Amino acid sequence: MEFLKAISAAEALAIISSFRVEPATETVALDDALHRILAEDILSAEDIPPFPRSLVDGYALKVKDIQGAKETTPLFLYVQGEIRIGEASRIELHDGKCVYLTTGAMVPEGADGVVMQEFVRAAGDAVEVTKTLHKGENICFQGEDIVKGAVVLQKGRSLSPFDIGVLSVIGRPAVPVYKRPAAGVISTGDEIVSVEEAPPFGKIRDINGHTITNLLKGNGADCRFLGIGKDTVDSIAGKLELARECDLIILSGGSSKGQRDYMADAITRLGGEILFHGINIKPGKPTIFGKLWGKPVFGLPGHPNSCAMVMMRFVLPLVRRLKGEEGYREKKMAGILGTNVPSTSGVEEYVKVAVREVDGECDVTPIFAKSSVISSFVGAAGYIIVPEGKDGYEKDEKVEVYLFPQ
Ligand code: AMP
Ligand code: MG
Repeated sequence: MEFLKAISAAEALAIISSFRVEPATETVALDDALHRILAEDILSAEDIPPFPRSLVDGYALKVKDIQGAKETTPLFLYVQGEIRIGEASRIELHDGKCVYLTTGAMVPEGADGVVMQEFVRAAGDAVEVTKTLHKGENICFQGEDIVKGAVVLQKGRSLSPFDIGVLSVIGRPAVPVYKRPAAGVISTGDEIVSVEEAPPFGKIRDINGHTITNLLKGNGADCRFLGIGKDTVDSIAGKLELARECDLIILSGGSSKGQRDYMADAITRLGGEILFHGINIKPGKPTIFGKLWGKPVFGLPGHPNSCAMVMMRFVLPLVRRLKGEEGYREKKMAGILGTNVPSTSGVEEYVKVAVREVDGECDVTPIFAKSSVISSFVGAAGYIIVPEGKDGYEKDEKVEVYLFPQ
């Protein structure tokens, strides 16, 4: 198959983002829902709190009864009773009286403030209040936290521990979430052996299979590593067959001249279609994106550096759609370049950087490494993008650092 004309990064992203996906849903127990993506808007069937609650230990009262109360001129209120925590109040507060409450107890009908115990002195069956209150002081009113019928969490959201707290207060022991997309990962290359093997001289251990799998895992996909294919169309097609049930297929290797057609040919031989082959980016130019059995399939360059970069820029956005996530924002930070960054005009370039805080400012140092040097990732915190039309950056220029996923 012919090497298709390379397209721009923006065109590649547009093709990837127009790939139709329909994530399936399932229901999981509340405590299994961390980082899962909510599949429906969640409405509260109740007011939270469901009754007015005291925020302090003290006395519920009518604010009008203690207007002008001061330390030197306290006002007296008779104690009408006590409401214990967890108890439903049957008391209706009378004028000139108060009711003892602890924090979290129900505020009685008729009360519009709770004075803290610290501002009250006992005086037989009455109390002396030494401070005025404003209306509503120290009360959390019914529905003040969450109003019945309100959307508390929106569909497409990745659930945080705090979201799970909110779901528990509104009584949702199980939650509708999107199923994790299943991703089939395949490494290819006659020279690649698995990490368990001692590589014979001339061969190297698989890196990409592990980096890809773990980038996917960290982004909520359910990964299946399907092994290492040889540099033949038959072998790659055989591995692809194993991925028939997957929602996404990712191959790596087979991108250098002379090898580049194995992947594309294997995809088309199985009835698939190549949507693009080649992006004007550095590193990562020989990337393939296609459709096989209706599923998205990526052919990533073998160089581990290129492979990881294309995963982050082009594959992970699709993984987020496959898992139903909406409103995701890449984690970025602003910084100042410590050195010039030369770049080739006409390609979008990704340069790994180290970041350091110097006097409250983020100092950005580019890490220039050959595309085969995987250890250059270890000291890097992220990467910067030199756009296609720019010749590079100058020292002291302000840049945005895209932080690596952890
Ligand atoms: P390729 O894209 O297959 O031509 O590979 C480009 C370079 O990346 C070659 O040096 C390969 O040995 C290396 N490479 C390919 N696949 C992997 C892999 N899974 N792990 C580590 N290195 C790889
Ligand atoms: Mg290869």
